[in-house]
Amino acid sequence: MVEFGKLNKALKLPTNPKELLEGLPFNIGEQWSGKTIRNKDMYVEFGGPRVKAAAELIEFNEEDKNLEDGKIELWGPDIDEIDEGASYSFIETIMLSGLNLDKITPAILEGIISHFHDFIEGVMHLNMRNLIWIRIHKSIAKKGIRIEHLARALMGQLKANFPQIEKIEIKFLIDSAQNPNKTLRILKDDCFYIWEQRNIEALELNDDEVDKFYGCTGCKYYCPNHACIITPNNYGTCGVINWKDADISYKLSPKQYFFEIPKGDILNNLYGSYSGINQKISKFTSKTVERINLYSAIKDPQTSCRYFEALIFQIPEVDALGIADYYYKGETPLEINFSTVNKIYNRTNQSPGYRGIALTTFRDKKFMQGDGGWKRIVWMNKNLKERIAKWIPDELKDKIATEENALSAKKLIEFIDTQDHPLKKEYWNGTTWNLK
Ligand code: SF4
Repeated sequence: MVEFGKLNKALKLPTNPKELLEGLPFNIGEQWSGKTIRNKDMYVEFGGPRVKAAAELIEFNEEDKNLEDGKIELWGPDIDEIDEGASYSFIETIMLSGLNLDKITPAILEGIISHFHDFIEGVMHLNMRNLIWIRIHKSIAKKGIRIEHLARALMGQLKANFPQIEKIEIKFLIDSAQNPNKTLRILKDDCFYIWEQRNIEALELNDDEVDKFYGCTGCKYYCPNHACIITPNNYGTCGVINWKDADISYKLSPKQYFFEIPKGDILNNLYGSYSGINQKISKFTSKTVERINLYSAIKDPQTSCRYFEALIFQIPEVDALGIADYYYKGETPLEINFSTVNKIYNRTNQSPGYRGIALTTFRDKKFMQGDGGWKRIVWMNKNLKERIAKWIPDELKDKIATEENALSAKKLIEFIDTQDHPLKKEYWNGTTWNLK
């Protein structure tokens, strides 16, 4: 981990959960989760759409004998040293050690730590990893909340819920919203590297090699009728939880966030339809969702909750698919901006033609194969296209439009025509665009 720069504070907190959670200027509990803090009520925000970079990273460090239990370090201003209403880039790294940590995974804890922030009265926490968005309510700022209290709440909840954690250290970096050089460097050099190492290992497996899948209800606090289906080819939509994480976590604590899904019969290999998934998804979503196709955004797609890294949306005029990443704010070829697309997408219910996905989905060999796979993708926002460029088949790289090429169906058809997109062969008869 690179150094953060000039240290503002270093504190040694108590080490037992009871003492950590005593005397805090807020309450903690599930009843505080899922709240929204509006702009007018916000004292400060860390991460979110107004800043250039943010991340929460959890690492296990069993080798490091120097890990000092209860230590926190803060780079940048504390909450009482900032201007009301400000936004900051933000990094929070949590280092853990303990003899039995192999029974959980850092990714699982990165998912759970999101809830542990959100359980704090007056703290809103959305998303995970580099998409996090934390807001602190004015009422809690008035009661004197500091970074130390946030750290106590996180350490206390972690230790109370995971007794195998022996030592915790937390580092916070609070950085400029628009020129967060340190934050960007840590994000690129450390966080993305570490997350990618975890992906490489997990992506060695594929759906045909395992006899069971898992469902995740980790977001039940916000979306009671949503469950992600986790298979080797299909990460949870947040991009954090893979099949190996779910497997380890389920064996450790079968009643917590995951449920087991025996595959059952393969109903349709191309679409990734399994009787086992349909039975379980119906049960865990109170029959809101009865069928899921793992490899389709158009027919019986998986639902998503508040967390997804990118959204696939159907473009009816060309009967094809566009994709934008979570933070894209611009226009789309649907001739509405992406925030509106996002609102139209009914996340908890199944919305054929829309599907939230993790970024790892792009490297899946079965990527939306029920819909025609990569050949059906005609548009992506530029940032997303650049970020996942190495996973786009070479022959399609120039044929997928971005906001720089097409922001209407008419322009998209022209682009498809001039770039000889494979869809052209299917729909263009030389004079008109024939949709099936
Ligand atoms: S987005 Fe899905 S996989 Fe991620 S925590 Fe929520 S339910 Fe679990």
